[in-house]
Amino acid sequence: MPVFASRVNSLGVEGAFAVLAKAKELERQGRSIVHLEIGEPGYQPPNHVLEATKKALDEGKTKYTPSAGIYELREAIAERVSSTRGIDVSSENVVVTVGAKMAIFAAIMAFIDPGDEVIVPMPVYPSYESVTKFVGGIVKPVALKEERAFSPDVNDILAQVTDKTKAIAINTPGNPTGGIYQRKDLEKIVNLAREKNILIISDEIYEDIIFDGGKHKSVLSIPGAEDITILISGFSKTWAMTGYRLGYAVAKKEIADILAKIQSNAVSCPPNFTQVAAIQAIRGPQDEVIEMIKDYQRKRDVIFDEINKIKGFRMIKPAATFYAFPNIKGTGMSSNELANRLLDEDGVALLPGTAFGDYGEGYLRISFAGPMEDIIEGMKRIREFVSSL
Ligand code: PLP
Repeated sequence: MPVFASRVNSLGVEGAFAVLAKAKELERQGRSIVHLEIGEPGYQPPNHVLEATKKALDEGKTKYTPSAGIYELREAIAERVSSTRGIDVSSENVVVTVGAKMAIFAAIMAFIDPGDEVIVPMPVYPSYESVTKFVGGIVKPVALKEERAFSPDVNDILAQVTDKTKAIAINTPGNPTGGIYQRKDLEKIVNLAREKNILIISDEIYEDIIFDGGKHKSVLSIPGAEDITILISGFSKTWAMTGYRLGYAVAKKEIADILAKIQSNAVSCPPNFTQVAAIQAIRGPQDEVIEMIKDYQRKRDVIFDEINKIKGFRMIKPAATFYAFPNIKGTGMSSNELANRLLDEDGVALLPGTAFGDYGEGYLRISFAGPMEDIIEGMKRIREFVSSL
């Protein structure tokens, strides 16, 4: 067989999909598995979105679309981003992508040459590291620390800046930590990026899943950010539309055009009928979304109480997202060993913190996006397993 291109060696494996595959295989063999591994809402998309999907199919919305996505959806996204960030972007600034993941891929492909450095505060969603390395870039990690509720220390970011720094990739609210960047830190990041001509990639896909009445703080609402930022967000989390494969990037027109060109070369365009339905996700009633977020908050509270009862575990309350990121250092086990044993011996599928890059050792990521029964059963199994050690 011919040898693979060397870049293949740099590609990471997304932990959530790897553990899901193993957990499904154990289930197939007859084991009872509690799924707390994947960041996928356990709800259906809102009813009016499902109706709009069926209608779009009946109306024959089954064809190619422009690479940047259909105009009406780009308009709807532009209006939403403008009103939530207090800025003025138009459909020309928006590229609808095949999941937010395609937006991440295109953003890094568009800007990172071999040897370019990308600063990545982590633990974080693993695509940033994987894709940067895939294109020959160098990842410069910055620790997100528990004692700062997983919001970055801008001095640590500053310490990683060199004359090769091309981009900084931030994710707020953050997967897997549930942490939020403070506005004053975002301001410092924008100032730094402007001064040093650094691109900001800001992944805000959990922007609506914020608890206790908190409001999302977006980089794009900071004066001066618009010219140097690619905002990434999508439909998978807020509207529970993971399988629709729809995300988006918002950036200045010159950047948006290149992102669309990259997407065009990879997949031509996002699906037609899901784009038509997604207009209704944005423009339709939001009451079902509000209920989902309340429900995530109830689950967060249950998991918080239960985790802190487990010997060797402790966690801070996540302010956002549907992930708990407990510190398990008190168990004396590594994240990997504990995660593996929980799956193999106890039937609980979750992820080691190390699946999210540097500084994840000593933590587990537990998704509470699924049904409450699974969370309760999962917590019971973990508690019993740990006390039997
Ligand atoms: N960005 C972050 C931070 C995520 O957690 C995820 C999915 O888990 C994505 C992007 C990708 O989302 P999508 O389903 O839109 O590709």
